[in-house]
Amino acid sequence: MSATDQARHNVLVVGGGTAGITVAARLRRAGVTDVAVIEPSSSHYYQPLFTVVGGGRAPASATVRPEASVMPKGVVWIRDAASGIDPDAQTVTTESGRAVGYGYLVVAPGIQLDFGKIPGLTETLGQRGVSSELLSSSPAQLIGDLTD
Ligand SMILES: Cc1cc2nc3c(=O)[nH]c(=O)nc-3n(C[C@H](O)[C@H](O)[C@H](O)COP(=O)(O)OP(=O)(O)OC[C@H]3O[C@@H](n4cnc5c(N)ncnc54)[C@H](O)[C@@H]3O)c2cc1C
Repeated sequence: MSATDQARHNVLVVGGGTAGITVAARLRRAGVTDVAVIEPSSSHYYQPLFTVVGGGRAPASATVRPEASVMPKGVVWIRDAASGIDPDAQTVTTESGRAVGYGYLVVAPGIQLDFGKIPGLTETLGQRGVSSELLSSSPAQLIGDLTD
């Protein structure tokens, strides 16, 4: 059985973005053992830099790094996506059908944007100087939208 096949961890972090990685690193530094992070993506995006990319002061490539390079030493990386949490059983289920138990759970899967909640915004984004730095799939798009 490899370390990632372990069915239970002392601390389980859902999401290996900036929040999840920071919490995992700080816990390890504080001496907490058996910390695992569930993160499906092989790339880590440093979103605060998107603004600088949008402003034309950094290349988009500077915002992305291999997830493996930001995973703290001694932390188990479970390459999967959480699909459910059962707080009574203290278990997280994953998209691949695994069940991972935890002593403590940290939930840090980021946010989902919903531009549709603002009437007219979805249709107007990218036109007539309307844009958002939150269009994280393409940070460089911001400067193009604003200068068209
Ligand atoms: C343009 C822009 C500028 C910003 N500027 C700043 C700033 O200056 N200062 C600041 O403090 N914040 C800033 N933010 C906010 C920034 O997003 C947060 O600070 C930080 O990056 C959020 O980290 P996070 O880990 O919560 O989310 P994310 O970085 O979005 O990471 C979430 C992770 O969870 C993973 N995930 C999602 N669903 C699941 C699942 N079901 N199971 C497992 N993993 C999952 C994702 O793959 C992702 O890796 C900015 C954001 C944007 C878009």
